[in-house]
Amino acid sequence: MENNYKKYDRFHLWDFVKEQKAQGLVKHFGFSFHAGPQLLDQILTDHPEVDFVQLQINYADCENPSVTARANYETARRHGKSIVVMEPVKGGTLANPPKAVKALFDAYHPDMSYASWAIRFAASLDGIITVLSGMSNLSQMEDNLSNMRHFEPLNEEEQKIIQEAQHILGHSAAIPCTACHYCVDGCPKGIAIPDIFSAMNKQLVSGQTEAAVKAYRQATGEGRMASDCVACRQCEKACPQHLSITDYLKKGAGMLEG
Ligand code: SF4
Ligand code: SF4
Repeated sequence: MENNYKKYDRFHLWDFVKEQKAQGLVKHFGFSFHAGPQLLDQILTDHPEVDFVQLQINYADCENPSVTARANYETARRHGKSIVVMEPVKGGTLANPPKAVKALFDAYHPDMSYASWAIRFAASLDGIITVLSGMSNLSQMEDNLSNMRHFEPLNEEEQKIIQEAQHILGHSAAIPCTACHYCVDGCPKGIAIPDIFSAMNKQLVSGQTEAAVKAYRQATGEGRMASDCVACRQCEKACPQHLSITDYLKKGAGMLEG
């Protein structure tokens, strides 16, 4: 983000990596990026020596104004950069998409996992050199390997299905939190922000009020309720999804407390 960019200049990090490359210690270098296309354009104009950019890209965030996946991707490609994809499954969210999206995918590929749709979407884009996918068990790894071993880019029909899914998700009421937990450490009240959002999504997405209240109780405690937030906004500065965390917490307090 913008502040980090200034720090890189201040600490001569660009010179450092160039030096490592000149010595043969590094073959290619790039950076991970969480802001918008304007800043990306500026960095790539200032530093044409960069080999690749790591971007958050998934089918749900292409037009999301706080992620700007499509605009960032297009900017990097315009500068001729290769791309490493992060968050292809949106922190696991797209492994369990809303019911309407599941029905769409199941009708075309009853045996393909929902995560596979997301990973294949990212890997089908031009200029992708790696798709990073967090995996938490062996079956997820086997699923990912089965798609990538004999990789087939999405065909025209599948691309259309993804577009329909994007349309549905555009109308989804879910809080788009990826549960990365970057926001949690700096919270002076110790509020379990992603767990609260996950509880809220149970109600917002599938109307499971009882399950939402139960999950909310598990996520909170004396002095750590959504209503205990003091609006210092430390969490919002750390959130790569640029979520209005304080607003969502206010909404959560109204929905699930009392
Ligand atoms: S704004 Fe609220 S939730 Fe965020 S860090 Fe401050 S107290 Fe915690
Ligand atoms: S930093 Fe943002 S996306 Fe990550 S867990 Fe916190 S609220 Fe969710």
